[in-house]
Amino acid sequence: MTHARTVEQLRSAFERGATKPLAWRLAQLRALRRMLTERAADIEDGLLADLAKNPTESQIAEIGFVVGEIDHTVKHLRRWLRPRRVSVPGALLPARAFTVLEPVGVVLVIAPWNYPVQLLLAPLVGALAAGNAVVLKPSELAPATSAVMARLIPEYLDTRAVAVVEGGAEDTTDLLAQRWDHIFFTGNGRVGRIVAAAAAEHLTPVTLELGGKSPVYVDRTVDVAAVARRIAWGKFMNAGQTCVAPDYVLADRDVAPRLATALREAVRDLYGDDPSLSPDYGRIVNDRHFARLTGMLGSGTAVVGGDHDAATRYLGPTVLTDVAEGSPAMAEEIFGPILPILPVDGVDDAIRFIRAGDKPLALYVFTSSATVRRRILTETSSGAVGFGVPAAHLAVAGLPFGGVGESGAGAYHGERSLRTFSHEKAVLSKPLSPDTLQLVYPPYTEAKDRFARGLLRKLG
Ligand code: NAD
Repeated sequence: MTHARTVEQLRSAFERGATKPLAWRLAQLRALRRMLTERAADIEDGLLADLAKNPTESQIAEIGFVVGEIDHTVKHLRRWLRPRRVSVPGALLPARAFTVLEPVGVVLVIAPWNYPVQLLLAPLVGALAAGNAVVLKPSELAPATSAVMARLIPEYLDTRAVAVVEGGAEDTTDLLAQRWDHIFFTGNGRVGRIVAAAAAEHLTPVTLELGGKSPVYVDRTVDVAAVARRIAWGKFMNAGQTCVAPDYVLADRDVAPRLATALREAVRDLYGDDPSLSPDYGRIVNDRHFARLTGMLGSGTAVVGGDHDAATRYLGPTVLTDVAEGSPAMAEEIFGPILPILPVDGVDDAIRFIRAGDKPLALYVFTSSATVRRRILTETSSGAVGFGVPAAHLAVAGLPFGGVGESGAGAYHGERSLRTFSHEKAVLSKPLSPDTLQLVYPPYTEAKDRFARGLLRKLG
């Protein structure tokens, strides 16, 4: 099995200019929007089968999210695509300088299983807006959603320029051997390294949307019950299988016990006395992840949840205390409904702890102190910071979404998506006359030397 032919066909459509007209791009975006609204039920069924995702949550975090990205992009695309003037140094006048965005060509989007619609189609919005041909590789670990995408996308989008390739590592390895103009990968850092290495063969630029442990810091200046509701929502949505979910909580020592109690209340408010009966609570994606997560339960004392059932891959919303720093729950990204609370001695201690780990995808802080907020912003590095709310920053189309260091490279959403999938071409346009460049043409005279020294000062 090789996908070389698919890529060739797409490249030929791109080379013929099929994807470049603004009208084509807008038509594709509108068709994608139609697919998401007309076939919402099919998509929701896929998400329910793969992750027991509640249809309302599917609307909020998957289908509706992509529709929002489309609407924002369709509204602004014409303006975003306008050439941007930049100023020209005096010594080069008269001249005009500007940048234009051009599509890069044929791009590959590799998506994970946890938000299998959002993380496949939000990059597609940017890639189409930029005028590219696209191959989409959904995750094999969300097979029902993958099948729905493979069925619907050719029905709605231009098959000359958009293809879906299903499959696992073997198919992805074959895809990665092809020559791409951009690879957009969302997933874990181990595969991210494989993708980056394959891309290096062809000097293909990559965007890596990775994960890691996103910390929360809670100090003593906040309303603990309100904080607990926000954390419980961000953590237990999709059964904790969210890249920007709070991974663990650093709580000021005197707040930690109250926070644990408040989280118990918050879980009850969101999912009732027995979350296994709630239609709003998801399931773990597969047996391997279920075993990995239940293996973390021994990392501390379960003060909330800890109950689980292998047959249905149910793992209750869980809060752990007395968690040792080197335990399994703290050694890797949890990526499930287990929330360790670790006591810290104030913001200095929290910053020290955060800086000792990899740069996180997101960092959440609950405080009413402006000083603490400023210190977090200046003394730590992360893809994003959320003050007072986890996860929601990704719904702000004007904010770039991406990681830094181990949590990724590059960003997207809104206009940033268009720029991610475009080349920003630099253009300088200078009339032939008057020929102000005479002064820099050889032969070099003493007068020109004096000019050059002055010119260097001006350019500098
Ligand atoms: P996954 O296992 O579905 O893998 C992602 C993709 O990589 C899939 O399409 C898969 O087919 C492909 N793949 C797997 N093994 C491969 C190999 N050996 N060679 C080539 N391709 C291969 O998803 P995952 O990695 O388990 O996803 C979870 C991770 O993704 C977490 O770390 C999470 O934090 C991160 N994540 C990040 C974001 C973000 O936006 N930054 C979003 C969601 C998830």
